[in-house]
Amino acid sequence: MFGLFRKSPEQQAQDEAKIQASLSKTRQGFFGRISTLFQANEITDDTWTELEELLIQADLGVNTALEVVEKLQARVKKENLKRVEDVRAALKAELVSLLAYPPFTSLEEPRMLTVVLIVGVNGSGKTTSIAKLAKYYKNRGRKVVLAAADTFRAAAIDQIKIWGERVGVEVVAQAPGADPGAVVFDAIRASQESRKAEMLIVDTAGRLHTKYNLMKELEKVRAVCARQVHNAPHETLLVLDATTGQNAISQAKHFKDSVQVSGIILTKLDGTAKGGIVFAIEQELGVPVRFVGTGEKPDDFAEFDPVAFVNGILD
Ligand code: GDP
Repeated sequence: MFGLFRKSPEQQAQDEAKIQASLSKTRQGFFGRISTLFQANEITDDTWTELEELLIQADLGVNTALEVVEKLQARVKKENLKRVEDVRAALKAELVSLLAYPPFTSLEEPRMLTVVLIVGVNGSGKTTSIAKLAKYYKNRGRKVVLAAADTFRAAAIDQIKIWGERVGVEVVAQAPGADPGAVVFDAIRASQESRKAEMLIVDTAGRLHTKYNLMKELEKVRAVCARQVHNAPHETLLVLDATTGQNAISQAKHFKDSVQVSGIILTKLDGTAKGGIVFAIEQELGVPVRFVGTGEKPDDFAEFDPVAFVNGILD
């Protein structure tokens, strides 16, 4: 019940393989053209111009694209890199450094009960991601419970129940329209007492009548968590759909105004050629991508890894 849940090397390798496999569309898009640039015999002035343009088109954002090219040029000069493959490796290192957040360990810390809030709009892949996250930690030996606290939509409760059954974790739910705070209160009690769970994942409303209502509701849910469990919620993860591109960024800004977001679950990485959105998320929101959805099945999910990601987009 009380212990550190470190990822094994096998699990790390699985995560890396899933990330890389899910990026085939992105690899064939603008990043594919970047890879082609580095198959030439030499680096010319045109290479730099093209690289800059392609990075912008790949969704890095103008400022970030310019910064990457400037840093790369400086590095090439300083380290006197002549071979095209060395420049390519240096580009990868620059891209990885854009994603270099402190390692994600907060869900591995020993606690009696770890509480994770999931926020995001309906349609982003929120329900599927909750089930995948539950399965991910269940596979790593943890007892997980889900709380169906998106009581605004009856369908949301049903879907969580169906997915809970599918991945073999218990769901605490009440009737549609119930007070989400009460659902969370019950779920925490059940996790601590009868269910003896180590991780509680809470689904929250993706949409209410107004942004103000949404903010109030999410605040209330947070307050219930904080009152019952020390330092809870330990993570608040926002689910974003990678296929919606810049729209995902504006959605994220909307949520960030309403609730403290500690990380992103980026879904449908397999369904987009614009995996470059990962860089824009980190740069524009300052929030790390922590997990990615890599397909529709419950196991199509991985903890985000910057090196695997960059290798995946540029191989
Ligand atoms: P919700 O309304 O936000 O709860 O969305 P759902 O979890 O029901 O997902 C909406 C759709 O997106 C479903 O058809 C899912 O199968 C699909 N989906 C979710 N995550 C992924 C993913 O990582 N990859 C792919 N290809 N589809 C996904």
